[in-house]
Amino acid sequence: MPVKQAEFFVSNSDPAKCPKPDRPEYAFIGRSNVGKSSLINMLTGRSSLAKISGKPGKTQLINHFVIDNEWYLVDLPGYGYAQVSKTEREKFAALIDGYLTSRPNLLCIFVLVDSRIEPQKIDLDFMYNLGEKGLPFVIVFTKTEKLGPTKLQATLDTYRAKLLETWEEAPQFFVTSAVTAAGREEILSFIRPLNQEYRK
Ligand code: GDP
Repeated sequence: MPVKQAEFFVSNSDPAKCPKPDRPEYAFIGRSNVGKSSLINMLTGRSSLAKISGKPGKTQLINHFVIDNEWYLVDLPGYGYAQVSKTEREKFAALIDGYLTSRPNLLCIFVLVDSRIEPQKIDLDFMYNLGEKGLPFVIVFTKTEKLGPTKLQATLDTYRAKLLETWEEAPQFFVTSAVTAAGREEILSFIRPLNQEYRK
């Protein structure tokens, strides 16, 4: 079932000012340019809900969207800009950390990784930190229409093997493409039962 309604709600630079945690919430994060805005637009069926390819170093905001009047989709700032200063990086870490640790309604974090590049330390470290905090996450592979089926499978196998060096179990994987809309139904079908469970 596609998303019927998707509306921008609010942007914040202070996690404490985020909306009241009154609906289930799902956050999307990844390295800059991973395809996060494109994925959000694809999931919601809106061509420009999230802004595609904002300039690196633009104000880093936590963006809340309301989906089907039922759940929050949160667009978190992209990490890993090569050219940012240590101070900027620390500010980013504090913002994300403040957000992640202050949302009791945060049911899952979607960590996006570019399927065309090998596992990156920055992503693995980010996931490790989520694990340390006991925060549930899944991995979303983006831009997968660029890979043939054999290469895609090899990429997933490599990633799983890499994760199993640290984790007992690998998190769930979603294979997506903003170009073909691959993965949309899978992600929405993952979210819906969690929303139902949350309401009970
Ligand atoms: P963000 O910085 O993570 O929000 O990434 P964007 O959504 O702005 O995408 C970064 C670049 O990757 C843009 O040039 C997009 O057109 C491209 N892109 C995003 N998703 C896909 C995809 O599924 N397939 C392909 N081939 N390119 C994509």
